[in-house]
Amino acid sequence: MDAFSFGGGIQSVAVMVLMARGDVPRAPLLFANVGEDSEWPGTLTYYATEVQPYAERHGLDLQTVRRTKRDGSQPTLLEALSDDSANIPIPVRYAGGAPGKRNCTNHWKVQVVGQRLRAMGFTTKRPAVLGLGISTDEWQRAKDSRLTNVRHVFPLLDLRLSRDACIRLIETEGLPVPPKSACWFCPMKGLADWRAMQRDHPETFGRAVALERTFSARRRRRGKDAVYLSSRCQPLDVVVSPAQASMFENRSECESGYCMT
Ligand code: SF4
Repeated sequence: MDAFSFGGGIQSVAVMVLMARGDVPRAPLLFANVGEDSEWPGTLTYYATEVQPYAERHGLDLQTVRRTKRDGSQPTLLEALSDDSANIPIPVRYAGGAPGKRNCTNHWKVQVVGQRLRAMGFTTKRPAVLGLGISTDEWQRAKDSRLTNVRHVFPLLDLRLSRDACIRLIETEGLPVPPKSACWFCPMKGLADWRAMQRDHPETFGRAVALERTFSARRRRRGKDAVYLSSRCQPLDVVVSPAQASMFENRSECESGYCMT
């Protein structure tokens, strides 16, 4: 493995621990940070207080990488969402239920890691072997890379480790279990995630409600339908109401915050 794509969630932290223990070959851990204003705040705190000190203690090569444009600027994902454009780069839901394109994953994660690997000398002729933290319960997300200079491998699948096994490993190592690492506005959250955000982080939830309204207002000005952050295709403040409670939408589709496949 030439590098590992560090998403910041449970599976990534488990791979970091496995590297420290010598159970997975050591390789640079590349964390594609989509922006301090965009990442889940708890993930950034965990990264600073747990991941960086752990990597340093164990001599692991942890690198933060960011989207960098030709002019050298490093726009965050939230800044791109704030552009007054009809094009919304996150997978919002349209009124008919269809999800939008996930350009965010490609531009803020896949390409960013690919760029760093190119800088490390990996090319189409000599592709990088890049590890992804996919556990056995999400095996269907294990796909090869669309980049010609990258080949994917899946160390957690090789070791047959589930998400629960990853949690046990992290706890055994004396580390706290990291929070889910998806962006705070990620539309791939399940209803339970939105409800938990409203309950535990009302200020962040309020920002998500406001952002969703901004998207719809912007589209209405162009004569287009509203869009939604929830797959229920209703405004966030409506879907989290007790009347909407459901036992069928408990898990986020972006469990580890790792959305590169
Ligand atoms: S977590 Fe969601 S919003 Fe953030 S980059 Fe991934 S798919 Fe896009």
